[in-house]
Amino acid sequence: MSLERRLAAATVRDALAAARTIGVERLDALALLEHALGRPRVWLIAHDDELLATADAQRAAALFVRRAAGEPLAYLVGEKEFHGLALRVTPDVLIPRPDTETLVEWALELLPADRPVAVADLGTGSGAIALAIAQARPLARITAIDASDTALAVARANGERLGLRVAWRVSDWWQDLAGQRFDLVVSNPPYIAEGDVHLAALGHEPQQALTSGIDGLDAIRRIVAGARDHLAPGGWLLFEHGFDQAQAVAALLASAGFSSIGTRLDLGERARCTGARAPG
Ligand code: GLN
Repeated sequence: MSLERRLAAATVRDALAAARTIGVERLDALALLEHALGRPRVWLIAHDDELLATADAQRAAALFVRRAAGEPLAYLVGEKEFHGLALRVTPDVLIPRPDTETLVEWALELLPADRPVAVADLGTGSGAIALAIAQARPLARITAIDASDTALAVARANGERLGLRVAWRVSDWWQDLAGQRFDLVVSNPPYIAEGDVHLAALGHEPQQALTSGIDGLDAIRRIVAGARDHLAPGGWLLFEHGFDQAQAVAALLASAGFSSIGTRLDLGERARCTGARAPG
């Protein structure tokens, strides 16, 4: 019997049990039910013997089936929390990862709260990093770029909804930032090697946001190559990168004349971010 038919005349509790039988975890099923019914989680838990309306049951069944087939929860509900911000996400943008908060925390350590400094976020996607910085450093003048105009539309809408000011620009890395210099540049660029086995699990996300050449380092090489023209003297450049790329990124920065090279660990204690200071 199809899941949709099983949810006809089902209660909230029945629906959660049915979701489990097709492999949808309870927390995911709860989030999908919240979305399908437009009810908060506390309501669902307090009314778990309530019968689902037909239209709600149909919506829930369709979402459970898509989740069971591997679509990320964030795309199904259209939202992902990042650094305390509720961000809208669509398949045009990478889903923000908790590990990327490491990059935000590092940037915030370097950014003074009491004066306006110029910050750039390269490859902003949903706007997650730029908006997290904007929220924590209201005086920062933040420019966020992405080569994808559909991604940038998602980011811009997130900024408007959250009431956070960022200058959003379509640009292929530095290309359309001629003449602009920044005190701090952050980037979570695509860094997975083409053909990497991990890509199989990421098939719903934009490949342009994930892969970057044969060793995954093409984007980072391009950003480092242009960085001297776009950083203020002594300005910082911070990257997120793959768990096994810290040495390669440090070497790229060193050969471009950067100093104070350091690395930060992600939530799983892997070297996930590398950054350094421009000369001057
Ligand atoms: N951290 C992401 C993942 O491995 C990849 C993000 C990226 O390529 N920038 O799922």
